[in-house]
Order: sequence, then C-alpha cells, then structure tokens
Amino acid sequence: MFRFRVSLATVLLSLLIGAVAQDANTTVCQSNLTMAGAAPNNTKVLILGGGMAGVIAARTLHEQGIDDFVIVEAKPIFGGRMAQTKFGVNGSQYVLEKGPNWVHGTQTGSGPANPVWLLAQKHNLSMVESDLFTNITFFDYNGPNDYSATFDASLTAFNDAIVLAGERWQQNKTDLDLRSAYNYMGVAPKTPQEQACEYYQIDYVYAQDASQTSTLAAAWNYNYTFVPEAGGFSDVDMLCVDQRGFACIVQAEAATFLNTSQVLFNQIVKTIQYNQNEVTVQTTDGYNLTADHALVTFSAGVLQNTDVVFDPVLPDWKREAISSIEMPVYTKIFLQFEKKFWFDTGVGLYADQQRGRYPIWESLDLPGLFNGSGIIFVTVTGDYANYLEQLNKNITQVQLEVMEVLRRMYPDAPDPIDIWLPMWGRDPLFRGSYSSWGASFVPEHAYNLSVPVNGHLWFAGEATSVKYFGFLHGAYLEGQNAANNIAACIKNPQRCPPTT
Ligand SMILES: Cc1cc2nc3c(=O)[nH]c(=O)nc-3n(C[C@H](O)[C@H](O)[C@H](O)COP(=O)(O)OP(=O)(O)OC[C@H]3O[C@@H](n4cnc5c(N)ncnc54)[C@H](O)[C@@H]3O)c2cc1C
Repeated sequence: MFRFRVSLATVLLSLLIGAVAQDANTTVCQSNLTMAGAAPNNTKVLILGGGMAGVIAARTLHEQGIDDFVIVEAKPIFGGRMAQTKFGVNGSQYVLEKGPNWVHGTQTGSGPANPVWLLAQKHNLSMVESDLFTNITFFDYNGPNDYSATFDASLTAFNDAIVLAGERWQQNKTDLDLRSAYNYMGVAPKTPQEQACEYYQIDYVYAQDASQTSTLAAAWNYNYTFVPEAGGFSDVDMLCVDQRGFACIVQAEAATFLNTSQVLFNQIVKTIQYNQNEVTVQTTDGYNLTADHALVTFSAGVLQNTDVVFDPVLPDWKREAISSIEMPVYTKIFLQFEKKFWFDTGVGLYADQQRGRYPIWESLDLPGLFNGSGIIFVTVTGDYANYLEQLNKNITQVQLEVMEVLRRMYPDAPDPIDIWLPMWGRDPLFRGSYSSWGASFVPEHAYNLSVPVNGHLWFAGEATSVKYFGFLHGAYLEGQNAANNIAACIKNPQRCPPTT
C-alpha cells in the first residue's frame, strides 16, 4: 500500500471525469421539500437529522417498502455538514464548500465502489481529480524551499506506521498513537519542514495531531478507503466544483422519493425519551413526536454535549463509547485577491516554526477549477483550529496572522479583497468537523457507537462507522445499514435488537 498517487487507474478516471463534468448542473437539487410538513402524531420511524446518513436511511426504508417515517432536521435544507457559502466580492462570487469537498476513493476496476462516488455520478456532480500527493510547491518561513525529498520520506513513514498497526493487531498487541509509532520506528519529525510534511499525512486527514490519533483506527480508515488490496475503493480524490454545491447530491436524491409530509425542517430536537416500546421526541418549537423507532444521526460532537437530552440517560456502555471518540475541528479559511500571484500547483505546503500554523494552502484559481477567481484557501486543524474558534471570527486578527504567513511565502502579497472562515466547533448542530479516534482507541467503543439502545433507539452517522469514520461514505453506509436493520425488525420482531 502506497500513497504515490499516479496510476493508470488515475489516468482512466481522468477521462471519465471529463464526461462527468460535461453533463453537470442538469439536475435540480431540492424540489418542493423546503417547507415544513404537517407532523403526524405517530409514525413507525423518526429519522433525526437530514445529513447524508439521515437521507440515505430514509431512502433505504422507502426501498424496503416502509414510508411511514419522518425526518426531523434543524436546518431548512438537507445536507448537514455538506454545506456551502457564496464567497467573493460582487461580480466574482463562487459557491465554495465550507464542509466536505472531496469524494475520497472511487472504484478500482470491478472492486467495491464508494457509494458517494456513485451518487455523485447519478446527479451529474461537477468534480475534478485532485493530485494531492505530487502536485505540491514547498515553502518554509524563509520562503520557497524544495523539501520534496522530506515529503516523500513522510509518505513512507505514514505507510510504515499503517503496516506496523496491522502487524501489531495480528499479534494482539496494544494500539499506539501515531506519535509513539513514529518514535518507535525512529522517524519522528524534528525540523519544521519534517513537521509540516507529517502534518500533511496526519493532521490534514484526521484533523488532530499524531499524539492525539490512534494508529490502528487510522490504518483501518485509510486502508478501507484508499487501498484496493485491503478492500478499499481507490486512491483517487475527486474535488467537487459544482456551483449547485456538493450537498446537491443528497438533496436531489431526497427529491426522488420523499414527499413533504415526511419532512420536518427547522425543528431542533431537544429531548429524546425512550422506553422498551417507543420513542418520543420533543423539539424546541413544541412538537411532540412519537414513533416505534428513532434513528439518531446527530454528530458525535452533538451527542457529547447537552444540546439533546436523552431520557433516561443513555446506558454506561453507550456514554463511554460516545465520550471516547474525538470531534476535532478542521477549518478552511478562504481568501480572495484581485488576481492570482501564487504557485501553479494545487497545493502549497508551508513549514512554520510553530507546527500547524497555516500549513496547507490550496489554490482554486486553476484551469478546471475557478480559473481567474483569485481564490486560495488555507486549512488549519485541531488545536490551531480551536485557537481560531476562540478568536470568534475576529477577522482582522485572522487576516493579520494569515497574511504574515503568506508574506513569508510571497513578500509582496497584497491584502485580500475578501476573507471568510466557518466555525464548526461553535456550531451547536455539529460541535466539531468530523470524528477521529484518539490514542486510547478501543475497538469495542467503535462498535458500541452504532449498537441500538432498548431495541427502539438506533444510531448512525459517520462516527458510527468502524471502517470509514469521518468520511461521507461512512455516513452513507451507516445510514443504509441502520435502516436495513430497522426494516428487518419492523417486518420480523424476531430480528429486533434486545430491549434491555
Ligand atoms: C470542514 C469539513 C471537511 C470535510 N471534508 C470531507 C471530505 O472532503 N470528504 C468526506 O468524505 N468527508 C468530509 N467531511 C466529513 C463529512 O462532512 C461527514 O462525514 C458527513 O457529512 C457526516 O454526515 P452525517 O449524516 O453523519 O452527519 P451530519 O451531516 O452532521 O448530519 C446530521 C444532521 O443532524 C442535524 N442536527 C444536529 N443536531 C440537531 C438537533 N438537535 N435537532 C435537529 N437536527 C439536528 C444537523 O443539522 C445535520 O443536518 C468533512 C467535514 C467537515 C466539517
């Protein structure tokens, strides 16, 4: 398994991409489902949350012949973390993704296909292949500096850590955090350049640093997505550039099977009461909804907070699992300039003396992307992203810091004409960006996240995926799986989970 991502499959996919992009923008994203429907008193299933997991769960119930369900969603639209912003000065505005931007892993030959990749093709999403591992320009705090050999060594180090995790798992040895694994292998980064390269392999993917990240969970997550030999999809990353927004694939899919009475938008769930027979959900607007089953698809960050109260409190084993997963923040800071003055590669990697300080710069002003837009974005994660959240949109301070770094790369860089960043950690509907497993990873915690409580309260979402946590395809497959299990239980009570 290796991350040098140029292959024949990549070339073939590039040809396919041409076709995908050509037909784009022909489907409507969300039809008349933006209105809150009348709430039925009692349904078979309540689906709590209308992100990828919730919508796919609803579609799966429909496919199973069960249409007596309602999706309850706080926002006025489907998509959840698949969310956009219109960014740029008047006359030069673009729809940009503040949440997920890539389909990670597609399909290799007739091997397993990433279901989000299939959904994207079904709804003619405009995508462009990203070459994230060779198309990089290197900088440090003194300006341009080609440390590509260091980068290649960091790819090997990550690969070796993944292999080490597999060997230790087979030998029944304990998991290590990635920092310990790198120390053990004698490859812990020391210089700012080595640290920036390590950041690119670890923090940029898991949104937290090596000491905070489980090697075993990272290995599963990586292999099952990117490595066909290990059952993964492919090592191809497809960037969404669709001006309808990435969420269009969820919204357009919902419009194929839902009707207005199956959706309650603009309703924030505040309590979930459950017993051995049914579940009752209260929303902040006073709706009282009862169902035989409820599927909770809220993020791990929401479940870790007190935004939603479970009555009775969830059992110990469930609370332990929810408390064990991490929900770090991954922040993209978008900048627009009068015109482009930076590198022609997709990525600029910057090594600061402080690890994690504005390290990954991605150009959107490229042919095939938003050529002529003057837009670039810089990504920060984990502790540094938390620091930005504490600044609480003090855009002047953020701009000062960002420009200080950019001027180390380009001393004559002008001030931006626009700048914007989201606040994922502060958003009560998400409380973080996506889940990740920490140093104390215990596989039982991952399994227990999805296990139903009292036979009627079910859980799904990216975080409940043992193989694909953090990813859109994890959310998709978990929503599908939970709904299939709920349908099986409705059709045959003997297939219901225990009520204790
Ligand atoms: C910055 C960022 C970058 C990412 N990049 C990628 C990427 O490139 N590729 C990738 O595969 N994945 C990426 N992800 C992860 C991806 O977005 C998630 O895995 C996926 O969207 C999760 O879907 P979900 O249905 O599990 O959860 P969500 O999308 O969180 O859906 C849950 C829904 O519940 C609703 N909700 C929450 N609380 C309440 C309440 N109290 N009452 C009612 N409704 C409520 C929310 O509004 C939301 O719609 C990224 C995420 C972020 C934030």
